[in-house]
Amino acid sequence: MLKIVSFVRSVSGRQSALFLKKSSSDITQKCFLSKLTKPSSELQKKCDVLIIGGGGFGSSSAYWLKKRAGDSLNVVVIEKDCTYTRASTPLSVGGLRQQFSCPENIQMSLYGAEFFETIQGHLGDCELNFRPNGYLLLASENGASTLLSNSKLQNELGARNEVLTPEKLKLRYPWINTDGIALGCIGIEKEGWFDPWALLMGFKNTARQHGANYVDGEVIEFGFEKKPEGQKMQKAVVKLTNGDVQSIEFGKCVIAAGACSGQVGKLAGMGTGTGLLSTALPVEPRKRFVYVFDCQGENAPGLKTPLTIDTNGTYFRRDGEGGNYLCGKSPDCTCEPPVDDLEVDFRFFEDEIWPTLAHRVKAFESVKVRSSWAGFYEYNTFDENGIIGRHPYYDNVFIATGFSGHGIQQTPAVGRAIAELIIDGKFKTIDLTRLGFDRIINGKPMPEVHIY
Ligand SMILES: Cc1cc2nc3c(=O)[nH]c(=O)nc-3n(C[C@H](O)[C@H](O)[C@H](O)COP(=O)(O)OP(=O)(O)OC[C@H]3O[C@@H](n4cnc5c(N)ncnc54)[C@H](O)[C@@H]3O)c2cc1C
Repeated sequence: MLKIVSFVRSVSGRQSALFLKKSSSDITQKCFLSKLTKPSSELQKKCDVLIIGGGGFGSSSAYWLKKRAGDSLNVVVIEKDCTYTRASTPLSVGGLRQQFSCPENIQMSLYGAEFFETIQGHLGDCELNFRPNGYLLLASENGASTLLSNSKLQNELGARNEVLTPEKLKLRYPWINTDGIALGCIGIEKEGWFDPWALLMGFKNTARQHGANYVDGEVIEFGFEKKPEGQKMQKAVVKLTNGDVQSIEFGKCVIAAGACSGQVGKLAGMGTGTGLLSTALPVEPRKRFVYVFDCQGENAPGLKTPLTIDTNGTYFRRDGEGGNYLCGKSPDCTCEPPVDDLEVDFRFFEDEIWPTLAHRVKAFESVKVRSSWAGFYEYNTFDENGIIGRHPYYDNVFIATGFSGHGIQQTPAVGRAIAELIIDGKFKTIDLTRLGFDRIINGKPMPEVHIY
């Protein structure tokens, strides 16, 4: 087997990824936005809803709250890095699929697809660049029955996918080596990938147009009000980018701080108190690498190739029209890479990813890694699934985090759900009660089988 691998390491994986992935108009938009969001030197004293984190979940929540409540709700979003250098949202690969095992995830992603189809009605001139190529999930003998039952559930809930035998897979995808594959499932509609940066900017710009106030600063502490029944969270202390420290009182607060949500929870006493406060918000950063490789061979998977996920979680998809592909894989939980930086481990590609790619697609035997980046999953160590809903102790605190690698596609549904909880007092469209914090307190995991 011939293997030629060369790496182009840039100053930082993220930068290379951003500039490789984004067109110049995206970059212009980013610069324009940075000007719009000049660091605030003053923080208003009070607001109705304070959102901590202006990434995908925070900005979607701000959008839905302002769209529905207008001027009757004063919404402030605190974002510690308006360039989003380390945020998960712009570093994701922007995949949308319905191939999940948990009904709530299927429903949220179906809504994601509906939202994207009608995006102009929501976010105006937002160029998502959606590629409707579908997902192809491959299963070995061991995984075949799970794939079948999941496909049945997904179709019952409104997704459209088809289960294929190895023979049918080979007919449809001549580049595939079906060794070790018992079944494959291909999404026929409402699956593909999009530009996550465009979605984030769409939410943020529209939320601001509706009157949400974005402030550049970091929440570093909370203030509490003592009540006979316990303490209530009342204000946040914010370190602004000019170094000033100011505080803001809020009626309600949404924790949407991505991979830092566990830390923010700790500031609120989650995991350091007694009773309901003895349980931490179990969300922490986990580094994931994405590699961009080049393959020009005649037998390379073509432009319509779905995002393909192999039996061990290795995935690849096309990235544009120049013969580039993205790929990645989550490491084994015993070999998690350090999270103090966003450096890329190139050996991980060689040792863990390339052998699977080369086995599955002959044309990938000789590939060249052109670029790479790393990003953080906002990883829920309890059950790798989203945590959404009201905190059981603080009835004015709401949580939207922990989606562990499948969150960006669910931002439309989650932002809408947070707005329902705050405005209507309950979930009205998709019932997400089972994904609440209570399951962590009660020790009842809601695992999502299809996490990669
Ligand atoms: C490599 C990779 C690939 C992925 N692929 C996919 C995919 O294909 N499909 C999919 O659906 N999802 C994918 N994801 C997951 C997806 O990116 C995340 O689930 C989603 O973007 C999380 O959004 P968020 O708003 O929680 O986090 P973020 O985007 O990280 O936003 C949180 C924000 O909070 C801010 N913040 C943190 N602490 C504070 C504080 N104390 N004060 C103020 N601000 C604070 C941060 O600066 C950050 O901007 C991927 C993720 C990665 C890393």
